[in-house]
Amino acid sequence: MIVAIDGPAGSGKSTVARAIAERCGLTYLDTGAMYRCVTLACLRRGIADDDVDGVAGVARGVRIEFGVSGEGQTVLLDGGDVTRDIRTPEVDRAVSAVSAIPAVRDVMVELQRRVGKAGDVVAEGRDIGTVVFPHADVKVFLTADAEARAHRRAVQREGGDVARDARASADVAEEQAILAEIRRRDELDSTRREAPLRPADDAHHIDSSAMGVDEVVARVIELMERV
Ligand code: C5P
Repeated sequence: MIVAIDGPAGSGKSTVARAIAERCGLTYLDTGAMYRCVTLACLRRGIADDDVDGVAGVARGVRIEFGVSGEGQTVLLDGGDVTRDIRTPEVDRAVSAVSAIPAVRDVMVELQRRVGKAGDVVAEGRDIGTVVFPHADVKVFLTADAEARAHRRAVQREGGDVARDARASADVAEEQAILAEIRRRDELDSTRREAPLRPADDAHHIDSSAMGVDEVVARVIELMERV
């Protein structure tokens, strides 16, 4: 079975996809982490995000792997653990430009489809239901209003989790900065020419602004049971 979860930054895709993978025994595929790895590799090598050929070369050459630790999934770039390094503001700023390059997407989509061929997968990203797995068994487009998304990310960055503690708070200035960054990234991801963020025609829309994680997970599992 393939479950595709798409949506804008901070809509809760990762939390929901991870929970579904765990409960239903599917492989969790975080495609955003893959684009973040390419971006980090470019930043480390001093390759500008508008150097299309340079970035494409990096995408073709990097080795991206997923592992597990006590804290959950880890991300490895050329054998080194980059789980934290791919979530910095520098990577946030550059990742949309990197992922808008068609040659980068070709390489990533190929890798993602390989994972899909190997077994049952819940994949999250921006183009899973539209491009990567257009025949996915279940497609979900998960949204939330931008303020709710910024709040979740801000709390996450300070080590908290809104899903576990609804009253968790974050620094106000930090939250405003994240809100601006999220809006900018959504705009870039939605308006790019190649594989823009948009719901597949047959996607189920879920707005998680006022929903708990468990509720969203239950809805998705219900959709999976109908297949
Ligand atoms: O999901 P996450 O916020 O980690 O994704 C980081 C960035 O990677 C997105 O803003 C988007 O530019 C890119 N991305 C993409 N296609 C995907 C997943 C992520 O273009 N399937």
